[in-house]
Amino acid sequence: MTRPRPRPDLQTLSGYHSPQLDVTVRLNTNESPFPPPAAFVDAWVAELRAADLNRYPDRGAEQLRGGIADHLGQPPARVFAANGSNEVLQTLLLTYGGPERRALLFEPTYALHAHIARITGTPVVTGHRNDHFGIDLPNALELIERESPEIVFVCSPNNPSGTVEALATIAAIADAAPGLVIVDEAYGEFAPESALRLIDNDRALVVTRTYSKVWSLAALRLGFAVGPQWLIEELDKVVLPYHLDVATQAAGRVALQFVDEMQGRVHHLVEERERIFAALRDEPLVEVFPSGANFLLFRCATGGRAVWDGLVARGVLIRDFSSWPGVEDCLRVTVGTPEENDRFLSSLDEVLRESTDHA
Ligand code: PMP
Repeated sequence: MTRPRPRPDLQTLSGYHSPQLDVTVRLNTNESPFPPPAAFVDAWVAELRAADLNRYPDRGAEQLRGGIADHLGQPPARVFAANGSNEVLQTLLLTYGGPERRALLFEPTYALHAHIARITGTPVVTGHRNDHFGIDLPNALELIERESPEIVFVCSPNNPSGTVEALATIAAIADAAPGLVIVDEAYGEFAPESALRLIDNDRALVVTRTYSKVWSLAALRLGFAVGPQWLIEELDKVVLPYHLDVATQAAGRVALQFVDEMQGRVHHLVEERERIFAALRDEPLVEVFPSGANFLLFRCATGGRAVWDGLVARGVLIRDFSSWPGVEDCLRVTVGTPEENDRFLSSLDEVLRESTDHA
């Protein structure tokens, strides 16, 4: 048998890699450390029992979209929902990307932006962030002018750095861009401001968000986009019919009854983030970067990989970015429960002490 070959442009592609090791403290994938409230699970299961499982789900996820829209003070026609914000991003790229259409992004940033662009056949143009991981506006405007990209990605807060982009920068990029600006706000609830304020039917800008972090529902896969009505109508033509199953739609709707609990958790995680930030700032061998997300990026003077190994040996898994261009020797820690954060900080302290003892 001759094996069929994938599309030539996919042959050099590697998949998404984030090692999952069996450890006691897992702070590597930016999930919520808390399960959803028990009352949420009860209400969701009750909805599932009442669901007509022999019937296809609500194709347009109308109630869910209505609920998200109400929660954000937007018209329902501006909301699109899908299986995780990754599927939202893929639908955006299938609709507005493709061969002959370029996507501009600013590295280092979320690896899936370039990956999804490539699997949708969209060539990627790479800009670079400044030393503080922000987007340099004059440089961005020059790239937009020169490359005329159909899509510009702005990840804010940026993964893996946590950097929050000023709304004025995002608005200036949207004013200059000839096509669509996608603002990935997977961590938007942890940041002081949101580009949701910039959504307007006369601006080609869309914001993507997720239930995976704040809403503690990473296992269910639910994300959404908020954008001009004309853009949402185009996404609805492209996405597969009935892509969002009844369990996910119900979870999204029911979760919105728990806004106060979730906001309490955001507040708590932001406080913990600032506590970890202060502790890392006091470590002489570490440079920590300000973050508006539920994680922190820090650079290790003694070599990132060695510190990561030392933490794994102590049962603490964080994300190793040490060999990534632009974030050399950097590691990213997700904010966990106070106990997990304490374990991370004391283990890190030990590893750093050991590395200086051996030096
Ligand atoms: N965007 C960014 C910046 C992310 O970090 C993530 C999760 N790692 C996602 C999107 C995707 O989230 P999900 O598909 O779980 O909604």
